[in-house]
Amino acid sequence: MTYDTIIIGGGPAGLSAAVYLARQKIKTLILTIDVGGQTALSSEIENYLGFESIAGMDFIEKCRKQVEKYPEVEIREGVEVAKIKKNGVFSVSTSEGEEFQSKTILIASGKLPKTLGIKGEAELSKRGVTYCATCDAPLYRNKTTVVIGGGNSALDALLQLSKIAVKVYSVNKNTEFKGDELLKQRVKECKNVELIDNAETIEVLGDKKVSGLKIRVDGLEKILIVDGVFIEVGSNPSSGFAEMEKNKWGEIVINEENATNVEGAYAAGDVTNIEQKQSIIAAGEGAKAALKIISYLQKN
Ligand SMILES: Cc1cc2nc3c(=O)[nH]c(=O)nc-3n(C[C@H](O)[C@H](O)[C@H](O)COP(=O)(O)OP(=O)(O)OC[C@H]3O[C@@H](n4cnc5c(N)ncnc54)[C@H](O)[C@@H]3O)c2cc1C
Repeated sequence: MTYDTIIIGGGPAGLSAAVYLARQKIKTLILTIDVGGQTALSSEIENYLGFESIAGMDFIEKCRKQVEKYPEVEIREGVEVAKIKKNGVFSVSTSEGEEFQSKTILIASGKLPKTLGIKGEAELSKRGVTYCATCDAPLYRNKTTVVIGGGNSALDALLQLSKIAVKVYSVNKNTEFKGDELLKQRVKECKNVELIDNAETIEVLGDKKVSGLKIRVDGLEKILIVDGVFIEVGSNPSSGFAEMEKNKWGEIVINEENATNVEGAYAAGDVTNIEQKQSIIAAGEGAKAALKIISYLQKN
C-alpha cells in the first residue's frame, strides 16, 4: 500500500502534522522510535500556551490521545528509519529491513542526545549511565549522582535529581551555565547540589554498574563516588537517514513552506534549520508543513 504521507518522528512536530493531515482524510503513517521525543523528557513545561504548567510526559499523552482518535493515522512506534529513497514515490526503510511507500514525506525526527565518547560510557550505558533524567531520576532515590553538562537539559536534570537523590554533583566544562536565568537561579538554591566548574570528564568508573566518575579540575584528577551518571551535553539533529540539503550542523534546510530540496519531501521542528527549538514552535511548524503537504497532494 502507498500512503499519502509518511511522517518520521513522533514529537510535537510530527504529532501536530498528523492531526492536520487526518482532518483532511490524508492516509498517514507515523514511523517513530518513540512517541514524545524531547518534549517527553521535559520535567515541567511552562511555556506552551494553554498549559500554565504540565509535565512533558502528561502533555505528550494528551497529544497521543488526540492523534489516536483519527483512523486515517497509523502509528508504528519502536521503529527507526534508516533510509529514504525517491523513485517516483518515496521508499522509507527501517533498520529492521521493513519498507514503506508514500507519495510525500514529512521529516520530523528532531534531535537525539550527544554522547561524550569517554572510557566506560558505552560499557556502562543503562547500568548507571543515562541520557534522560525524566526517565531515570526516580531510580536514584537517596543515592548520589552526577550531571554532566552546562545548558538547559543539565539544569533540568539537576533540579529533578535534587528532589530525589541525596547528593548531586554538577560537572560543567565552563565557568557558567548557558541556560535560562530562572533555571540557573533554582539550581543555585538547591542545598544538595555541588557545582564543579571548569571540569574535564575523563572516565566513567565501574564494573557491572557505575561506581564513580573520574574528572580533572585545575590540572588535578579527582574521583567522584556516584551511583548514577547523567549525561546532558546537548543533542544532534537526527537526519543521517535523509539525503537532502543540510547545513553545517546537519539540520535539514527548508524554505518558508517547510519544503526541502527534494520535491514532495517536507521537514519540520528541531531537525530543521529553524533557529528556535521549542515544543510550541515545533508543533506550529508541523501544522504548517502538513498544510503544504495537503496542497501538494491536491495539485499532484
Ligand atoms: C530536557 C528538555 C527540556 C525541554 N523543555 C522545554 C520546555 O520547557 N519548553 C519548550 O518549549 N521546549 C522544551 N524543550 C525543547 C523541545 O522539547 C523540542 O524543541 C521539541 O520536542 C522538538 O520537537 P520535534 O517534534 O521537532 O522533535 P523531537 O521532540 O526531538 O521528536 C523527534 C521524534 O523523532 C523520532 N526519531 C528520531 N530519529 C528517528 C529515526 N531515525 N526514525 C524514526 N523516528 C526517529 C524520535 O523518537 C522522536 O519521537 C526541551 C528539551 C529538552 C531536551
